[in-house]
Amino acid sequence: MLMSTFGSWETIASAPIQEIAYAIRVGGLSRIKAVRIKKILNQIRDKQGDISLDFLSLLDASEAKDYLLRLPGVGEKTANCVLLFSLGKPCLPVDTHIFRVAKRLGLIDTRTSIKEAHRLLQQQVPPSEVYQFHIHMIEHGRKVCHARNPECDRCILSNDCPSALV
Ligand code: SF4
Repeated sequence: MLMSTFGSWETIASAPIQEIAYAIRVGGLSRIKAVRIKKILNQIRDKQGDISLDFLSLLDASEAKDYLLRLPGVGEKTANCVLLFSLGKPCLPVDTHIFRVAKRLGLIDTRTSIKEAHRLLQQQVPPSEVYQFHIHMIEHGRKVCHARNPECDRCILSNDCPSALV
């Protein structure tokens, strides 16, 4: 949406906040996101000389993640999304579905914070399976292990799940 509206990162970096917010209005919280996007793009340009994250592919995963976490408004999930989906690094983003399903399955304690969940789940998933784990856990959370009324009676994990309602 952003690129089709503005055509380049450089144009977005110099666009008024209101125009960026309008272009991303369907996602909600558009003004907050627009401010962050503009800050991030300008910070990357100030540090690197241009607006590109290609150099991150030359760093190891933890160095690349440290860089991303220093950008305004970027947390564990966003950093790992960039690392996994744009750079092909085996870093696991934990969204609300993965967080909920992992707790129900007993992969993490129910009191675990979202930040800690990233570390604990990353340790349990082999690097070669991070992408599939991410996709399947989200799919399972959306289609079966709903936030309300999980469908345990048709869940393939029910025999091994400590939270199964069957
Ligand atoms: S058995 Fe129920 S609580 Fe456990 S993963 Fe399946 S749907 Fe979720």
